[in-house]
Amino acid sequence: MCWWATSTPRTVLGMSATALRIDPARLLIDLRRLREFGAAGSGVVRPALSSVDVLSRHWLAQRMTEAGLIASIDGIGNVIGRTPGVSKALLVGSHTDTQREGGWLDGSLGVIYGLEIARACLESHLFTEIGLDVASWVDEEARFARLLGSRAFCGELRESDLAVLHDREGLSLSDARRDAGFAMRPLAALEPERHRAYLEAHIEQGAVLEAHGKRIGIVTGIVGIRTFRVTFTGEQNHAGTTPMHLRRDAGKALVQFAAELDLLFKSVAGEASVWTIGEIQLHPGAESIIPGRAELLLQIRDVDDGILQRMQHALVQRVAARSDPATVLVQLVESSPPTAPARMDETLQASLRKSAQGLAPSTWMSLPSGAGHDAQIFSSRLPTGMLFIPSIGGISHSFHENTSDDDITLGCQVFADAVSSLLRSSAGVPDTTLIQN
Ligand SMILES: [Zn+2]
Repeated sequence: MCWWATSTPRTVLGMSATALRIDPARLLIDLRRLREFGAAGSGVVRPALSSVDVLSRHWLAQRMTEAGLIASIDGIGNVIGRTPGVSKALLVGSHTDTQREGGWLDGSLGVIYGLEIARACLESHLFTEIGLDVASWVDEEARFARLLGSRAFCGELRESDLAVLHDREGLSLSDARRDAGFAMRPLAALEPERHRAYLEAHIEQGAVLEAHGKRIGIVTGIVGIRTFRVTFTGEQNHAGTTPMHLRRDAGKALVQFAAELDLLFKSVAGEASVWTIGEIQLHPGAESIIPGRAELLLQIRDVDDGILQRMQHALVQRVAARSDPATVLVQLVESSPPTAPARMDETLQASLRKSAQGLAPSTWMSLPSGAGHDAQIFSSRLPTGMLFIPSIGGISHSFHENTSDDDITLGCQVFADAVSSLLRSSAGVPDTTLIQN
């Protein structure tokens, strides 16, 4: 009996460890059909709850129904296909909304993998007591709120929270839900008794796999993110009449501080830590004015909370050391709520590793995810696992995002093998045993 199954073991009809085979042609046809919703050159423009996004959600629900799942779209647009006749299920999902200029595989890949694997399982009569529920979470890309659909599904956002959200053009989420025809529907919710684990496949959106010559990535964890605003307050004054030794130049203090950060963080960071100054402002910003105020936005990411804590501690100390009320005052605040690193479940990682080793020996590796994903929302509630396939040139959030058909197909088969192995072990059937009932 596997750790996430609690019911009586039963046998699985006629399944061998190699029985579940996905259909690569059907997988690619569905991915390319989904790409047509909002197609823009080689990319896709399909922001969450836009008219093409809504059309694509109805299409997806239809494809789920044709596969034999019970499909529904909930009150904010989450599309969920449930395996009929089971009380427990693995939950497999990702997102199908895109950035304002997005690629065709970001998110869509994982959703269509789930659809294809559920279809293959249903055709193979693999589901006995544990099924596969497939989901497309709405608005992972933050048109209204980051990871909106998965957070609502997990109970992090209630109707009162949703009511105040709007996009950057001022369109309220409430109006978007009404226009989509979803407003009167209930919100779907995680069912702890039913949903035993969460699995997500995604393109890497980076170049680590490609750089190592690997075709499959097993995600060890998803980075936590901390974001800070560092403010420098000096004295605004005339750039021609103020001698250098009398200046309280907030801009110069900022530049010197920023230049020190690389050395500072290198002394405390981990191998995979990253840090970015994403925005700098000098006030009032004119060539003849010494800036009286300056600020920068700084973000740090790592999969290890301890490392993030060390980096933050070093930052706080450096701010204190550089702050001098007599010249330039330096202050630090967290500019948005931090997200904690998400650890992927060890047993699910082992299952994905085993499938990868079976189908793509020596061409897989374990790695952390530097990007956020819906999986991070599930990881504190369910055993959660993620699989990556390479992004050509490491490019994503771009019309040029792409992955070879061979890698797309291989990734789906590796994912399918891991899923069928988990379903099989939940039913008490050893991985390599052929049992006829
Ligand atoms: Zn994505």
